[in-house]
Amino acid sequence: MTCHNCKIEMVKAGRGRNSVQRFKCTTCGKRFSEPQQKPFGADVRLPQETVCRILHCLVEGNSVRGTARLCDVEKRTVLNILTLAGENCERLLTERIQQIPVAQVQADEIWTFVQKKEGHKWPHEKAAEKIGDAYTFIALESTTKLVLAWHLGKRDTPNTTEFIRKLRAATFEDPFELCTDAFGSYIPAVNEVLYDRAHYSQIVKVYSKQEEGRERYSPGEFVKLEKTAMRGSPDLGRASTSHVERKNGSLRQWCKRLTRLTYAFSKKWDNLKAALALHFAYYNFCRVHSSLRVTPAMEAGITDHVWDLSELVTA
Ligand SMILES: [Zn+2]
Repeated sequence: MTCHNCKIEMVKAGRGRNSVQRFKCTTCGKRFSEPQQKPFGADVRLPQETVCRILHCLVEGNSVRGTARLCDVEKRTVLNILTLAGENCERLLTERIQQIPVAQVQADEIWTFVQKKEGHKWPHEKAAEKIGDAYTFIALESTTKLVLAWHLGKRDTPNTTEFIRKLRAATFEDPFELCTDAFGSYIPAVNEVLYDRAHYSQIVKVYSKQEEGRERYSPGEFVKLEKTAMRGSPDLGRASTSHVERKNGSLRQWCKRLTRLTYAFSKKWDNLKAALALHFAYYNFCRVHSSLRVTPAMEAGITDHVWDLSELVTA
């Protein structure tokens, strides 16, 4: 390392905070630290090891307070790291997942809430967009298990259209099969945004009425499956939403704030968004999918190795 003033090579002079190598100039006597790669390129003072440990706790389904206790840091620190990781992961996902050739795409939405459920909002909160019900739209490619696009918003047509736009940006121009549940807003959204590339079908699952009081926790008996072609000529024999529904299940398992009936629900919309971005980036790039034996990003040919968390942090 050279001195900023004298432009000559310095000598090693011990280690500073977080065991960073320090250097001393023999001419002017000034001391410098070795430049470090900071997590997320932001001003994070924690050692990268701690940052990774915090993220590891979060992606393995720990709550924010639980993570703070496990890593011996403040709750505020965990949330700061989560926010930075969220922004970074969201950027990473949009940058890396573009123009991907796909065959079979399944889309679904998963419900959660921020602060309180929609029905519990006060009259003055009715218009507040960032409180109440929150839906995460997910588009999954069924062979590679790659999450192509996701979107957090209310369950309405503008948000559905924005989600389908993200799906368009993620996929290559060749036609593909798209299958969703029977939520009505998908039809105008697909017709407007994916008019040139989607063979689109909807699936309705009909269940019998569950006995009184049990319907909240388990659906009634499965009666029949109805598949309807909505656009183009979809292969109804292969149309299914099973993989994306399984993905919803693992999202509730690994993202603590989506676990039902706990106190770990989201209190802030932006933190929920960050937690989702982190989850999807970790899922696509870092976690080896048990049915693929590689990560979804490797299966899709986006990367050639399993990423570890430090790579996600510095990417
Ligand atoms: Zn000097």
